[in-house]
Amino acid sequence: MARRTTRRTRGGTRDQEAALVRRALEASARAYAPYSGYHVGAALLAADGQVFTGCNVENASYPLCICAERVALGTAVAAGQSAFKVMAVATGSSPPATPCGACRQVMHELGPGLKVLLCNHAGELRRTTVRALLPAAFSGGQLTRRPPAVRRRRSAS
Ligand SMILES: [Zn+2]
Repeated sequence: MARRTTRRTRGGTRDQEAALVRRALEASARAYAPYSGYHVGAALLAADGQVFTGCNVENASYPLCICAERVALGTAVAAGQSAFKVMAVATGSSPPATPCGACRQVMHELGPGLKVLLCNHAGELRRTTVRALLPAAFSGGQLTRRPPAVRRRRSAS
């Protein structure tokens, strides 16, 4: 019996990556994108091995559109997940498109160590990370509960 080689990468095995890419591509086919026609799919690997998918869901009121990445993350959080390893994002773009700024911020909030696989139907694949996509990110650690110091003017005497 031939031994199956599974090369381990930082976020998971190459087999897991290939499965995530496939799931993201499948999810993109379920996108609700009647306005842009731009179909996006995401597949998120949680630390326990479960995979959660998402697709973009558009709305006639454009600001209400939600991206595939945030649908996948929200679905995973709603299922009780809190630790994530890899997210694959599939688009029809070549080279594969990167997540929008809003998604990068949400990905950083929920998975600052996430590895990201950007892929498309042509088989192109780019590996990156949330840290590379959103350097110098804003995070909860920067929030302060204290009000900003107010300088008082010295009264003229
Ligand atoms: Zn987005």
